Amino acid sequence: MTARRPMIAGNWKMNGLLADSKALAAGVAAKRKALGGSAPFDILVCPPFPLISTVAEAVSGSGVDVGAQDCHMNVSGAHTGDTSASLLKDAGCSYVIVGHSERRTDHAETDAIVKAKAEAGLAAGLKVIVCIGETLEEREAGKTLDVNKSQLNGSLPTGATAANCIIAYEPVWAIGTGKVATPEQAQEVHAAIRAELKKMIGGEADGMRILYGGSMKPGNAAELMSQGDIDGGLIGGAALKVEDFWGIAAAAM
Ligand code: PEP
Repeated sequence: MTARRPMIAGNWKMNGLLADSKALAAGVAAKRKALGGSAPFDILVCPPFPLISTVAEAVSGSGVDVGAQDCHMNVSGAHTGDTSASLLKDAGCSYVIVGHSERRTDHAETDAIVKAKAEAGLAAGLKVIVCIGETLEEREAGKTLDVNKSQLNGSLPTGATAANCIIAYEPVWAIGTGKVATPEQAQEVHAAIRAELKKMIGGEADGMRILYGGSMKPGNAAELMSQGDIDGGLIGGAALKVEDFWGIAAAAM
């Protein structure tokens, strides 16, 4: 099996103001800096758009990467309220999350839109985190694997490699609910995603990281990440406190 470096990614969503976000970023940066070159994981924070430059400055030189939570599919133009991938890169991002279930629901983003956004991210030189995941209704109907495979096929950008793309499996019923998938439930889906990736992109699938997201906490992170195909976490609520976020990162050490 290809060794995959864990990724611990914080999705701050629409939380925080300037001062507390700066302090959160600085706190994570200090923890990461203390590990120096020995950090056995990548670590990423994804603040709201207006905080990107501030956060990028606060984590500069620490080894913490900065990502955005979305981008537009076009390079520039008349798209009021949207942000281009190249501006995100310019502002200090090295990653962009696309296809989060909250974007799919709140903004009616289809797989085709998610794919186009991911391709815009790659074209701008960003790495992309492509989110997929089933709803509770779909799980209860026994459609979990089919839904995830279908979203993967529809959302994976052309040109995806292990180096430029990460998949995040986020069961919608586990996001922000405190209901976490069991390690076995998550591993089953992660293994199915990797098998599907293999059909799509061949050997690159072995090195591509697949993150789990959905109520990950310091207390459940180690068990989830001990599963063979779980290569880290995309973390919402627990990414808003340095101690919680770092507690999850510590589980990857
Ligand atoms: C998320 O929104 O990506 C997420 C996983 O949220 P939470 O950790 O709060 O469930």
